[in-house]
Amino acid sequence: MMGHTHAMTGAIAWLGLAPGLAALPLITDSSRFMETGIMVNALTPAEFIAGALVCAGAAMLPDLDHPSATIAHTFGPVTWALSKAVAWVSGGHRGATHSLVFAAAMGFGAHWLAGTYPIGRDIMVVLLVGLALRAIGIGIPGNKLGSAAINIGLTAGLYAVFLSLSVGYAWLGLAVAVGCLIHVVGDCMTERGCPVLWPLSVKFVLPWKIGIKTGKKFEQKILAPVLSVAIVGLLFWRLAPG
Ligand SMILES: [Zn+2]
Repeated sequence: MMGHTHAMTGAIAWLGLAPGLAALPLITDSSRFMETGIMVNALTPAEFIAGALVCAGAAMLPDLDHPSATIAHTFGPVTWALSKAVAWVSGGHRGATHSLVFAAAMGFGAHWLAGTYPIGRDIMVVLLVGLALRAIGIGIPGNKLGSAAINIGLTAGLYAVFLSLSVGYAWLGLAVAVGCLIHVVGDCMTERGCPVLWPLSVKFVLPWKIGIKTGKKFEQKILAPVLSVAIVGLLFWRLAPG
């Protein structure tokens, strides 16, 4: 699947699942639970939106094993070299990174980072938000430098906003895990499937071989608009004052 499809399904997964998942005691500090009494409100609106961006960015991570994917070109030679290394370690495209093990490892890693190492956590948040913006296609077509500047500016701005709204990151690991998982689910809908239970080499393809062909018209002309509408709808549904 294309990068922006993965990013958008990542955002949708978070917007749809986060209020329910926030009920898990791991995600929220108990003090806020005492205040609100209702776990569903455990995430502030700012955390909810920050989570959607992080989840969208994390939904790009499994394709680090693919040196020509969007993610590999996001931060120049840095991500390209990283993706070369990941591709080599994980045994080529759609190997170890397209599995439950990878999603869990990334999720626990991010959760650990969020709790113990604030600078590392902040770097991770910034990178994932930058990835999400890049994947969604924010920038000037045909102008790499301009697009990079816009991306960096927007990411820094968003990060400052999160900071000023005192966004907490207890949910970071969850958002990262959900993002990686939804990527795998998405790729299972394409013809090649994924080794979900890696290191077992069985490939999983979702029922009836929906067989979406990556980058074909369907993904660009139908899926992308439908997913955009779903994101706006979910945002409105979750955040509109009721
Ligand atoms: Zn993939």
